[in-house]
Amino acid sequence: MMKSNLVHELSLYGMASDPIYVGTGGYTIGRVDNTIVRDPITKTPKIPGSTLAGVWRYYTVLKILAEIKKEQPTIEDLKKLEGKTLSEKIAKFAEEKECFRTSGENCRENSWKYFVGNILTSVNCAGQDEAPYMNTDEILVDGKNEGGSKRGHCGHCIVCKGFGFSKKDLSWQGMIFFSDLTILFFPVFTRWGTRWITTGEILQDAGFLASKNSPPATSCFVLGKWENQSKSGAINLGWLYLPFTCKEEIEEELNQNLKKVSGLPFTAEEIVIVPEGLFSQIVNSNLEVRTSVSINPITGAAKEGALFTSEAVPRGTVFRGNIRIFDKQCFAGLQEKIAPLPSYGDLEKALKEAGEFFNILGIGGMTTRGFGRLKIAFG
Ligand SMILES: [Zn+2]
Repeated sequence: MMKSNLVHELSLYGMASDPIYVGTGGYTIGRVDNTIVRDPITKTPKIPGSTLAGVWRYYTVLKILAEIKKEQPTIEDLKKLEGKTLSEKIAKFAEEKECFRTSGENCRENSWKYFVGNILTSVNCAGQDEAPYMNTDEILVDGKNEGGSKRGHCGHCIVCKGFGFSKKDLSWQGMIFFSDLTILFFPVFTRWGTRWITTGEILQDAGFLASKNSPPATSCFVLGKWENQSKSGAINLGWLYLPFTCKEEIEEELNQNLKKVSGLPFTAEEIVIVPEGLFSQIVNSNLEVRTSVSINPITGAAKEGALFTSEAVPRGTVFRGNIRIFDKQCFAGLQEKIAPLPSYGDLEKALKEAGEFFNILGIGGMTTRGFGRLKIAFG
């Protein structure tokens, strides 16, 4: 983790507990109808930061509501309170209720879920803003917003301030920045069982090896001693047959660094380092391809001509990326409407707790069809 006064960076790892499908929305490549998102340069599948941010935002709202829904006031309750602006009324409610906090101290619950603006958190704070034409104070306007159906982003809670919002009177960038998640280790079936492939460059970028250890263009490195294995030979990675040499000398360093990620399903002995130029080839030819057919609801049988295929990143794939939290506390005094801001610590806790939902509800498409669960770990 990198730390500076303004920007805190967290290393993020994601392990696919199910195949993961993050679709492009209707491209066909070869025999696959539903293709997944790929990096335009490396041609390997990725999970875009925008997907990650949107899902994380939703899960943060779920975490908050699960705990504090019963403590929240109705719009009517808020209207009755003293104060000219909505922020003043929120502060007043927090003072009376004593469980939401107006500052780091004096709070009954030392939890990010009781950040003062969360008095207004609703499910509308996730997803697209349904009412961007409203002002941040307009939730109190008579007749317009009753019932919560057209509330949109509230612009006051930890979700809106952390992930950003845009209302008529105020646009706020947010404080949490997500990178894309790219593949760190990818499982491939070999005659020795499952092995996880990666490259020297990926390992060095991830900080798992101090120096770059890339094999020549047409061979690979294996680590450790496998049963009946000599110092060199050949291994099949899917359909590709590659000569290998044993790189025992980096096994120890790699094993030490793998410990940074809790819950990895393998050790250095099961890693194969492939040439940079072959990585995307091997990944793309070992994706999970599933063939489905639409069912005719009347007959209950397969619909004519409705056969389609989808590709997905297989279970066991390990992704990496990072999250940067921009601590904007110093700006809060400059823009009255945005104060108070959640602290860096609150946002980190919120991300970690809400991140648990990725391994329960998943990310991407077909999550009700056995896809999408992702185990999140921070390094
Ligand atoms: Zn909100």
